[in-house]
Amino acid sequence: MNALETYLISLVRAQGPISVATYMAEALGNEKHGYYMKKDPFGQQGDFTTAPEISQMFGEIIGLWQATSWLNMGRPDKIHLIELGPGRGTLMQDALRAMKIIPGLLAATRIHLVEMSPILRKMQQKSLGDYPAPEWHSRIGDILRHARGEPILVIANEFFDALPVRQFQKTDNGWHERLVSLDGRDRLALRLAPMPAPEQVIPGALQRAAPGSIVEICHAGEHIMAEIAEHIGQFGGAALIIDYGYGQQDCGDSLQAVKNHKYTDILQDPGDADLTAHVNFQRLREIATTYNTRTYGPTGQGSFLNAMGIRQRADALGKEASASQREDIRTALHRLTHEDEMGRLFKVMAVTESGLPDISGFGS
Ligand code: SAH
Repeated sequence: MNALETYLISLVRAQGPISVATYMAEALGNEKHGYYMKKDPFGQQGDFTTAPEISQMFGEIIGLWQATSWLNMGRPDKIHLIELGPGRGTLMQDALRAMKIIPGLLAATRIHLVEMSPILRKMQQKSLGDYPAPEWHSRIGDILRHARGEPILVIANEFFDALPVRQFQKTDNGWHERLVSLDGRDRLALRLAPMPAPEQVIPGALQRAAPGSIVEICHAGEHIMAEIAEHIGQFGGAALIIDYGYGQQDCGDSLQAVKNHKYTDILQDPGDADLTAHVNFQRLREIATTYNTRTYGPTGQGSFLNAMGIRQRADALGKEASASQREDIRTALHRLTHEDEMGRLFKVMAVTESGLPDISGFGS
């Protein structure tokens, strides 16, 4: 049993069962023992690999998208470029290299990174050494409060899937929250709350789901989406959200734990495995549209990257590469865009100020 499990067991003993969201927040973000707080989880040696770690083309395309948005906005002379959950800083580094080509853009840009992990903050600082110094924050709200009146460009890749979700299960007498409790041997175990939850908690379209169905609600993600959309609607800007998740709202238990590139039990070794849940894009879009914004997607990552010209970028890189590097580029392109790889499961959604022309990447 690890230290976080011991702590959680004593917490449940003292206070009663906790929500799946509280469990997830502790497992990922506990100051001492949380998954992201104590190590670098990425790459071959780590637990999982993300798109920017597969190829520089990914971040470059995002940079191009952000640059196009800035041009469409009429080149504002000050803009806040915000990345949520920047990991090793690879995406931002690749994006800035692409953005540098546009005259005036970097001079107008203030870089902000929203990151909770001290270890990853250090890695980000190293990756971005060649660019104007970023500012780090624990929450996006802290940036937006100081950026009132000024436009923002936001990027979030595999950030929303790390935000805690609550789970509710339908039974014959209504929806009950799934809680993390203790079993007969005093080990962590899932169990339904004895009393049903108020029906309003469950999205209307799902309220009639069959008994046994599970619904996930991500309050943190909804709140962050609202903050972004409110700012963009009022002061301008654009946001790009990339993650794996549902295009249509649906039932299902999508919470999963991954360790060493393999799935494990979500209650096993808290803090030593990554925990994620599918992102409910329909819900995020509904929230964004309640503000003065335009929304796009979600569309498949493959379709977005292709529309943004990733093939042309791969060809250009291939021209200056050795045969083995060309093979690597081809493999990376396949992983990022193919339907059986990240092309369809991963989705891209955008929110822009309402006056902007059609944004690139989403077809017509
Ligand atoms: N975008 C990166 C990393 C994705 S992993 C990539 O694509 O490679 C998730 C990232 O979000 C990590 O940097 C993690 O530390 C950060 N993170 C997760 N939850 C967070 C929270 N609640 N607040 C701030 N950062 C968070």
